Amino acid sequence: DQKPALAAHDEAQAGAPAIVDVLAPLALDMVWSYLAPPDLALAAGDIVRIPFGSREAIGVVWAVHPPGATVGGRKLKTVSGRYDVPSLPDGLRTLLDWIARYTLAPRGQVLRLALRHPEKLPPEAPRVAVAATGRLPARLTPARRRALAALDGHDAMSRKGLAVAAGVSLAVINGLIDDGSLETRVLPDTPAPAPDPEFAPAALSDGQAGAAASLRAAVADGQFGVTLIEGVTGSGKTEVFFEAIAEALRQGRQALVMMPEIALTAQFLDRFAARFGVRPAEWHSGVSPRQRERIHAGAASGEIQVVTGARSALFLPFSKLGLIVVDEEHEAAYKQEDGVHYHARDMAVVRGRIERCHVALASATPSIESRVNAMRGRYGHLRLPERFGQRAMPRLSAIDLRKQAPPKGRWLSAPLVEAARETLARDEQALFYLNRRGYAPLTLCRSCGHRFQCPNCSASLVEHRFRRALICHHCGHAERRPDACPACGEVDALVPAGPGVERLAEEVAALFPGVPAITLSSDLAGGSERMRKELDAVAAGDFRIIIGTQLVAKGHNFPRLTLVGVVDADVGLATGDPRGAERTFQMLQQVTGRAGRGDAPGRAILQTHQPEHPVMTALLSGQSERFYAEEIAAREAAGLAPFGRLAAIIVAGPDRQATEAHAQALARAAHAAPNASGDLVVLGPAEAPLAIVRGMHRFRLLIKSARNTDLQGFLRAVLAATSAPAARIRVTVDVDPQSF
Ligand code: ADP
Ligand code: ZN
Repeated sequence: DQKPALAAHDEAQAGAPAIVDVLAPLALDMVWSYLAPPDLALAAGDIVRIPFGSREAIGVVWAVHPPGATVGGRKLKTVSGRYDVPSLPDGLRTLLDWIARYTLAPRGQVLRLALRHPEKLPPEAPRVAVAATGRLPARLTPARRRALAALDGHDAMSRKGLAVAAGVSLAVINGLIDDGSLETRVLPDTPAPAPDPEFAPAALSDGQAGAAASLRAAVADGQFGVTLIEGVTGSGKTEVFFEAIAEALRQGRQALVMMPEIALTAQFLDRFAARFGVRPAEWHSGVSPRQRERIHAGAASGEIQVVTGARSALFLPFSKLGLIVVDEEHEAAYKQEDGVHYHARDMAVVRGRIERCHVALASATPSIESRVNAMRGRYGHLRLPERFGQRAMPRLSAIDLRKQAPPKGRWLSAPLVEAARETLARDEQALFYLNRRGYAPLTLCRSCGHRFQCPNCSASLVEHRFRRALICHHCGHAERRPDACPACGEVDALVPAGPGVERLAEEVAALFPGVPAITLSSDLAGGSERMRKELDAVAAGDFRIIIGTQLVAKGHNFPRLTLVGVVDADVGLATGDPRGAERTFQMLQQVTGRAGRGDAPGRAILQTHQPEHPVMTALLSGQSERFYAEEIAAREAAGLAPFGRLAAIIVAGPDRQATEAHAQALARAAHAAPNASGDLVVLGPAEAPLAIVRGMHRFRLLIKSARNTDLQGFLRAVLAATSAPAARIRVTVDVDPQSF
């Protein structure tokens, strides 16, 4: 036989090709049956090309039918071929199925999170080096002599490396190649150097050592489990989970470290390299397609042992995952709010269960969900109540803006300015925190009161001076700021209202002339490399004042920073969002935690209109336990997560009436649907908090249930009982919505 690779049952069925079900990355739930080509033994997870209508498409074998099976009536087409890329492992396919069931997103759409298209890669440029041929060039100039001398003792060097080493231009190297004195060689791919668990372990504090020992044991155990590492800012959580990573490496298993934002990975890479000798693989949207392909293949083969990345790293085809770390687990950025609505922290726990590996959640301010899971014993709970190295927590105080308002058109109160002066006089750094991008959140006409609104959204346009435009933060609409009011025609009557970081930077420049200051905000940052340089410059003390949005609030280590001034501590409280208090508490705890991480003690000042608000009193008195207890009690009373379950159905469409009508049809179906447990509550429809986005009117239904109710089953029944919406109306389900 010419096909020794075929298994015995395939031999028996010779002549009856296997039938496989293929899932395509389309927003559809179903799989399609195909015949396997006679010479190809396909397995579940294989990535294949299939004839699809009049074209070819990519898909993944989701199931292989038992030999001899037939599929009703139709004549099946045959799979065109298999791509030579790693197939999706069982654990990952199980995860994708699980996410589809949980989020109600079509399976094909969920597949997109994990599938890479081999044909969409740019052709790979081979790694080329030059080596000496031993032939002397016709003409030996001093530059050529230097180049040949620099190559002495090396087998081969890259052209650029050689040019730099010899201090000559690339033209010199190319000339030597043309003359036959150097030849080019294609280098084989060298395997990535492996992180070494024993490279440079830190001397841990007693608290760290205890936590690390218990995490190491959990990883070595090789079973599924979750641990919450709750440690104040600066307590050294990173060093603790490094020990868990080291243990996974010793076990020959892989580790995944998830971060909520790319900006946070930069400093992490260096710290990791200091501990393990090499950087981990980095996975996020900024990584080149070729590099992504390498990581993909390395995760599947096991050659890449540690990956750090944003939420999409969860969908890499790891073959022997031994640990998942979710850093800053409380971060809202872990929730994907378009396409598949999934929470990466929760799905990390699901993947941990599937892969039988340990999951470590780290935070100074855990989410209520994780806190409750830890209190009830579902998760292990490790606490680091003190900062590393006897460093004190920052001293917190509040400034009551009702009594000490800054002058009109200014945002920094006199006591905060005074504190900054003292800080600068001691040669230390000050951070002014304001989570508002741009120059001013609102622009209005002094003459007629006209406000600049987004034409597509129910939102104001935000003035950005740096980009010279009025911009909508919801849809990206941008327009030039006119000279005259478009409503009344008055010239020079347009005024900015309220502060953004760019405006705050102006005030800082006027108050502290000549003091080096930097504004850090996502729309001023030019990519992650530049961001990294800027953060390094801040850490090195090149800037004395930092003005920043939430971009600088989290995770960073600025040793010289001793004063944090929160310009508007109330921003997140007035949103009407039930999570507003939790979010504000977490954010303020994080940003104030940037102060005093080095040798000098830190302080933080909150400018607020409501110093008696429970969030402020908890922060000021350091009683986070009380705050958690009150929040948890409020959640329990309201039947919200983790005590109850919640889902939103969002209906969006260009026509307000038709959209609302469809939302009402869904609500009628929900009220009529069987409610076996009797605990389902249907609220709405009501206009969504942002009623119009990108020209689409949005209505929302909320469905609440007890914890153990089959909420997804109910949602499916409601959707099935409602007739299809009119064209252009879209229905989205959001299970566990984060803001509501
Ligand atoms: P967290 O993540 O809990 O805010 P980090 O892990 O960033 O804290 O640690 C805070 C600071 O203390 C960092 O500068 C870190 O390098 C230092 N640090 C923590 N643990 C140790 C240790 N065992 N030895 C030396 N330095 C440490
Ligand atoms: Zn808009």
